[in-house]
Formats: sequence, structure tokens, C-alpha cells
Amino acid sequence: MRRELEQRVPFNDEEILVLAEAIGIAEELISDRLKISTSQWKRYRYDIRSLKDLLPEEITDHAFAQIRRYAFPPHDKTLASRHGDYFKICLQDHVIRKALLRDPQLALLPLATYIVTHELIHVVRFARFLQRFDAPEKERDMEESRVHGQTLALLQDSKIPGMQAVLSVFGSCPFMETFITQPADNTLSH
Ligand SMILES: [Zn+2]
Repeated sequence: MRRELEQRVPFNDEEILVLAEAIGIAEELISDRLKISTSQWKRYRYDIRSLKDLLPEEITDHAFAQIRRYAFPPHDKTLASRHGDYFKICLQDHVIRKALLRDPQLALLPLATYIVTHELIHVVRFARFLQRFDAPEKERDMEESRVHGQTLALLQDSKIPGMQAVLSVFGSCPFMETFITQPADNTLSH
């Protein structure tokens, strides 16, 4: 277990399946509560990737996830002008696993759902121009409180086993992220 803690071990196949379930739950919850239609979802240019699909510069040991902004999807440059910014939500498997190992009351499905829901709220707010990706620090702190509040509101009645434990551990901690800005693109970390 100690070796695993010290290394960046990507999620295994079983964990990837749990992650996929969490992403499905979070996307459905947000589209339902924030009244986002299927065609609107298609306009939001984002991907949710875990450690095995991250570039070295997309990996951090200090956050559950980072959002990286690109001017265009790396795999689809032709659509750039029509769709604008592309956001890559980079989940940090090793950091998430560390939290699970540290606290036995936490489980992957509720924790991943919590993290992905939070990230997707950011993406929706970026896409709707309610949040600036490169906002100054004070503005970012306020925005983080807003996103955190919305995440809690969306998940407070959740019936996912273990979600209440996740909310009690992280519910009072709105500032779980730092932002990293780079010349060519931008990153937002959690
Ligand atoms: Zn955030």
C-alpha cells in the first residue's frame, strides 16, 4: 500500500468503470438541474480524462483534478473556430486514491461523482461566460465558493451510497483548488 501511495498509479479497469458511472451521474444531474439540453451539451467542448490519458504537464500531486483550457481540441482542430475553447478535465487518480486510503469512510463512486460534478459546473460556467478562466485571485475565490455551493446543493439529496460521508468531509472546504496559467493555454486545479 505504501508503494502505491508514493507512486502515480492509474485507476485499474474496475475503477475506470466506477469513474464512468460517476461521470454519467454527474452529467445527468447537471443537465437536469441546470436545464441543459442535449444540443447545448454538444456545444460544451470538454473531455474528462484520468491519469492514463494525461500529458506530463497535466498531472499534479496536489489536487483531485485540473481543468486545462485549450484553444481547440487537440484531436479536432477543424472545429475550433465554430466551438471556441475546449476544456480538458484532468482527474488525478493517485490523489483521489490517496484520499480513499486515508479515510476509510470515503468510497470512489461518491467521491468521483462529487469531484466531476464540481468540475462540470466550472465548465458550464466558463461556457456560459459566467466565470472567467483567468480571473484574478479574489474573483476566483468568490467563484470557487459559488461552484462549491452549487455542488453541495446538487448533491445534498443524493442517494448514492457514501455521498453524505463525502459531503461531511469536504462540505466545509470550499477552497480546494489552485489555478495555474501558462502562456499557451491555462489550467485550473482542484
Ligand atoms: Zn473549483
